[in-house]
Amino acid sequence: MNAITPMPRPSPVAATVDLDAEGVQHGFLRLPYSRDDSAWGSVMIPITVIARGNGPTALLTGGNHGDEYEGPIALFDLARSLRPDQVQGRVIIVPAMNYPAFCAGTRTSPIDCGNLNRSFPGRPDGTVTEKIADFFSRTLLPRADLVLDFHSGGRTLDFLPYAAAHELPDKGQEQRCFAAVAAFAAPYSMKMREIDAVGMYDTTAEDMGKVFVTTELSGGGTSSARTVAIAKRGVMNVLKHAGIVEGVPETGPTRWLDMPSGDCFTFAEDQGLVEPCVDLGDAVRAGDVIALIHPVGRTGQTPAEYRAVLDGVLAARHFPGLIKSGDCLAVVATVEDAI
Ligand code: CA
Repeated sequence: MNAITPMPRPSPVAATVDLDAEGVQHGFLRLPYSRDDSAWGSVMIPITVIARGNGPTALLTGGNHGDEYEGPIALFDLARSLRPDQVQGRVIIVPAMNYPAFCAGTRTSPIDCGNLNRSFPGRPDGTVTEKIADFFSRTLLPRADLVLDFHSGGRTLDFLPYAAAHELPDKGQEQRCFAAVAAFAAPYSMKMREIDAVGMYDTTAEDMGKVFVTTELSGGGTSSARTVAIAKRGVMNVLKHAGIVEGVPETGPTRWLDMPSGDCFTFAEDQGLVEPCVDLGDAVRAGDVIALIHPVGRTGQTPAEYRAVLDGVLAARHFPGLIKSGDCLAVVATVEDAI
């Protein structure tokens, strides 16, 4: 007997734009969300599609985490300014993927506590956050050749400004990803390692063979003129690199960094008050004290010393002044001349 394979359940998300039409369209991904203040209500995720003629498709996203701002600023700006006559191919822009989280200014969704970047590939019959992930997995990612997903550190982390890609089993795909990172031309470019890549948008896109670029562009739950300028220039550079927008990427000096092993991460084993001993971008040697954690329950206590395990630069740090056991305190990345 043949087993009957059930048809995959359709996504409940309705796009109010035609993803495959030419011209410029501003609209929404409308996701039904029934609740006390709106029985037949919806989450309305803004989307822009700009298309002309034949060419590759770039899928540009921000707000995967709701408290990271360079991406949404650069992408709302691009959505209102990029003209179809500048485009050969298609650009799909979603400035705030996890829109409920973005509106709340939080990393995760206030509706279901969903961390969108740990919810992939998602489910059409899951939570609101899982339904967003599923729509990206089955409707938007398959249309894309190149995916640029903006991140920053959010309220609890702060990073050197970098574009990044991952080491991949397909070395040709990996090379195309790092070529797009180089084109982005952030002040730093990272060979990025994840603490746990399960459920990430990155992994889903990479497993589909896409060219995937991500970023970390500072953090702390805010943005700066400098890092917004990096984001705006970077997205145009990537579109030029892909041949979707005419012109040559405006490159500048970039420093290639690597996260060669789990030793690059330092996790707090204490709670208390963080005293930074080096700042982002500072050179550190293995054994250097990078931060102290002061106990705050009483005076007269000795702070815990946290030391670098690798030679490199401080690439990320815990942002708030207080820390808990288990929080990521710091990331030390090694410096490469080039890849
Ligand atoms: Ca993030």
